[in-house]
Amino acid sequence: MAIRKILTVPDPRLRQKARPVKRVDKRVQALFDDMLETMHAAPGIGLAAPQIGVGLRVIVLELPEEEDGNPLTGQPIFLANPELVSARGSEEEQEGCLSVPGFVGYVERATEVIVQGLDRRGRKVRIEANGLLARALQHEIDHLDGVLYVDRLSGPDKLFRIVKEEEETSSEAAHKERAEM
Ligand SMILES: [Zn+2]
Repeated sequence: MAIRKILTVPDPRLRQKARPVKRVDKRVQALFDDMLETMHAAPGIGLAAPQIGVGLRVIVLELPEEEDGNPLTGQPIFLANPELVSARGSEEEQEGCLSVPGFVGYVERATEVIVQGLDRRGRKVRIEANGLLARALQHEIDHLDGVLYVDRLSGPDKLFRIVKEEEETSSEAAHKERAEM
């Protein structure tokens, strides 16, 4: 496993549409592992392959266990070729992106989603999510289409500059609050 460099705006690779993986082989599994390690180191709760310059439809997520009481929190979620098959409701909440450092925005997203894809072993999986996990899944799938959360803001007043990590009293609390992905 290796920590990869996370690309930031305005890197053009963040704007390209990623290709589906043909099958989840050892190479894709190694990519999953590198992405998880990179995401943990950042730290973040989600990462998409284009954020490390790999143009494949691969995402990883891991939410803190206490988040939403969802059974999928507190463990890594690996998805290749994720597809949003259903979305319900809408909610404007705060999110941040590891590729847009120094800012957070208030973004309207569906509150409940169903996502299908392939897991780390290449098996078809279907994930039903709400709350922060639903938001993170939508954010990561957007990355695969070259879309950043800043594209989805309803106005410039929805974007806020944040203070640097080292100036904050608790980076862990700040990380959870900001939910960078
Ligand atoms: Zn992001």
